[in-house]
Amino acid sequence: MFARLSLAFSLISYLWLQGSFAQNDPPAAEQSDRVAPAPSASPASAQITFESVYVDGPYIALTFDDGPNANLTPKLLNMLAAHHFKATFFVVGQNAADHPDILRRAIHEGHEVGNHSWTHPNLGKMSDDGVRRELQKTDDAIFAAIGKHPTLMRPPYGSITARQKRWIHDDFGYRIILWDVDPLDWKRPGPAVVTSRILKETHPGSIVLAHDIHPPTIEAMASTFDQLERKGFKSVTVSELLTMAKPRPPKATATPRATGTPATSPPVHSSPAPANPGG
Ligand SMILES: [Zn+2]
Repeated sequence: MFARLSLAFSLISYLWLQGSFAQNDPPAAEQSDRVAPAPSASPASAQITFESVYVDGPYIALTFDDGPNANLTPKLLNMLAAHHFKATFFVVGQNAADHPDILRRAIHEGHEVGNHSWTHPNLGKMSDDGVRRELQKTDDAIFAAIGKHPTLMRPPYGSITARQKRWIHDDFGYRIILWDVDPLDWKRPGPAVVTSRILKETHPGSIVLAHDIHPPTIEAMASTFDQLERKGFKSVTVSELLTMAKPRPPKATATPRATGTPATSPPVHSSPAPANPGG
């Protein structure tokens, strides 16, 4: 009722404004949600799950899972600040409840916090009630720390069913964030390997997975951030990256690439689903 009245009022105001000031800004009604869908909604708005997005700039999203960690996460925040990189932290609820100060610092410095469950179980094998408890407790802990609810979640190990994605999105409003770059840092292959894997696989629009609970991962980030920056990449939060999403252009046909393609030009990325137990 109120929405209808305010829409009518906005329309009247709009018509009046159109008469008074030609070429004015769009009416305020267009800014408000759910009154009328925008005619050209971004394709990302209907999508629930993301492994990467198509963007037309050098933007990526660095994500760090399983923390916060009392020692490592503050070190990582220092490094991110030095590079003006923004990151998204998919936190385990228990850790979030133990270190709300670290979450507050992350938010204050422009980063994002997402829900990564309370105890890091395999959600794909759990009952709906169990999944709901995991997510709700973590949502509550994040809200207690930073005063707002997360809008993103990442299932531990990337394990989640299509049906779960749907009801989690409907009930919590979350978008489900996977990844397309996985350096397998949790296996602790050594900082140089972590760095080279990330550098090799990252493209514009990539969502990079790492974990801020392993010392060698944090060690790897010094060189990783340096080199990503040198290549011109800019890391933004996942939510920011999603707002930049553009429709993917039609797949290139199988014609051979033009010769002399510079090695530095990032290939267009068509991401396969992650196939390993990261997250
Ligand atoms: Zn995890």
